[in-house]
Amino acid sequence: MTPLIYLASNNPGKLREFAQAATAWEIEVQILPGIDNLPACIEDGDTFEANARKKALYYSQFTETPVFADDSGLCVDALGGAPGVFSARFAGLQADDEANNQKLINELAQFPQDKRSAHYICVIALAERGQILTVVEGRADGLIQEQPCGSGGFGYDPYFFYPPLEKTFAQLSVDEKFNVSHRGEAFRKLLGYVQSEISRI
Ligand code: IMP
Repeated sequence: MTPLIYLASNNPGKLREFAQAATAWEIEVQILPGIDNLPACIEDGDTFEANARKKALYYSQFTETPVFADDSGLCVDALGGAPGVFSARFAGLQADDEANNQKLINELAQFPQDKRSAHYICVIALAERGQILTVVEGRADGLIQEQPCGSGGFGYDPYFFYPPLEKTFAQLSVDEKFNVSHRGEAFRKLLGYVQSEISRI
């Protein structure tokens, strides 16, 4: 039987990426049924791991099937690791990608190219009926460039230059990005865990 895990997010873009990657492992990913009608889980942790654990544990109360939750963000060395867990609301609670990117670029304005290193982090937690089964992490290292480039991806991707491919994340296709991204790396670790526990799940 194909193992099934639920995604604790109603973001269809995330589902598409995760479900597509899982097919090759013969693992099925679906959005947690009814998630839209549940009270949202407040992401108030100090770390990506704390938020991922909190979300996975919370949503695992509502199903017998293992549920995974991810938390991710951008950490810029010159800014002491900011925006970090505040990546989605760097420029304020209602901030959109454009406002967040503008703030990032303004804050980095006086930094030369060799001081613009940054990395994305993604932590995924898998929980079952109120217990954490595993927590995995992925990371992608790059540089924040001064001008945006590319129209793919989301968030900070037009500014996130990835040296091994000499492109920004926004210049990569969905598959190309998932192959090298923090989220792809973390998710492949999760799939490895699920596959090794296949008989139990
Ligand atoms: P979340 O994990 O979906 O809550 O993402 C938090 C925030 O981190 C997003 O709103 C983006 O600002 C940023 N972020 C996380 N992953 C990426 C990525 O792959 N590209 C661009 N921005 C990202």
